Amino acid sequence: MKKVLITGAAGFLGSHLCDRFIKEGFHVIGMDNLITGDLKNIEHLFGLEQFEFSHHDVTKFVHVPGELDYILHFASPASPIDYLKIPIQTLKVGALGTHNLLGLAKEKGARFMIASTSEIYGDPLVHPQTEEYYGNVNTIGPRGVYDEAKRFQESITMAYHRFHGLDTRIVRIFNTYGPRMRLNDGRVIPAFMGQALRGEDLTVFGDGSQTRSFCYVDDEIEGIYRLLMSDYTMPMNIGNPHEITIKDFAEEIIKLTGTDQKVIYKPLPKDDPMQRQPDISKAKEILGWEPKVGREEGMRKTFEFFKGLSKEDLEKTEH
Ligand code: NAD
Ligand code: UDP
Repeated sequence: MKKVLITGAAGFLGSHLCDRFIKEGFHVIGMDNLITGDLKNIEHLFGLEQFEFSHHDVTKFVHVPGELDYILHFASPASPIDYLKIPIQTLKVGALGTHNLLGLAKEKGARFMIASTSEIYGDPLVHPQTEEYYGNVNTIGPRGVYDEAKRFQESITMAYHRFHGLDTRIVRIFNTYGPRMRLNDGRVIPAFMGQALRGEDLTVFGDGSQTRSFCYVDDEIEGIYRLLMSDYTMPMNIGNPHEITIKDFAEEIIKLTGTDQKVIYKPLPKDDPMQRQPDISKAKEILGWEPKVGREEGMRKTFEFFKGLSKEDLEKTEH
């Protein structure tokens, strides 16, 4: 049985990856320090022989006994309010954590993948963003801790690839959504869903003309899995190119949730990218991948998930 180590396993994407690898017949070691994750996301796996959980901070030396075939490094705070609250840990998990895991991959001869991000393009001056674009990041701005950690993560991964011949993959993930997002993580979908469910007005930042392109989690996981199993070692965008302004998106959510809230406006956070849309030509051509779940269907499924949360969960949300 092939063995995979997934860091960030108790988080949103990490937990979906654990499910996918279990389904594919792997032995899965999920590693997490629970700083932004929740064991609830993987508790359904705890009884399985195929699954083990390791409570560990990957910025400390990582030891895994026995063989390992794949390492997927997905641990990192991922939402703006998380990485603004824990900036040093964000830098450390991207830098020290990646270094530790690269060392582990080298020792085990494992294929290594990092979860990079559209944020490495910063506030992009090229639209849509192709993998060749170098980006426009404010290194010393509040978001810089995340963006630069991820850029460093890409650099050190390529250095291990070139210098040590390590087998590596770099996926640049664009805004992904779906069940198991944390209601209070501050990202726009949980924020709007929580507001709709609590009967509050929806907070649009800035004038809402900034754009994002949202990918449903099942599509994202499929793209990540295909990239990992492919021979392609350069960075690849995986996301849904269907772009929308945040203002229109708020209106869509009001319609979907059948509520009669208003949209209210709050200041735009510093360095908030004004436009974002992945160019996915490479993923289409090399992996034969493109997203299949439209926003209407994906948002309906996501709303079902948030509706299923307890009243207590809804109320303890900070916003
Ligand atoms: P998440 O916050 O739900 O999950 C991240 C997980 O990493 C959490 O369970 C957290 O406890 C864990 N973690 C953080 N620091 C750790 C450490 N030092 N040691 C061990 N575990 C640690 O976030 P997510 O949305 O699932 O994102 C997962 C990965 O994908 C991140 O690397 C993120 O940068 C990347 N990504 C996500 C998106 C997205 O839209 N969700 C977009 C681009 C990139
Ligand atoms: N946003 C918003 N209201 C909120 C939360 C976010 O208008 O309550 C905006 C945010 O300013 C950004 C977009 O929604 O322009 C996406 O934000 P998110 O934090 O989800 O992702 P990211 O900025 O990392 O793409």
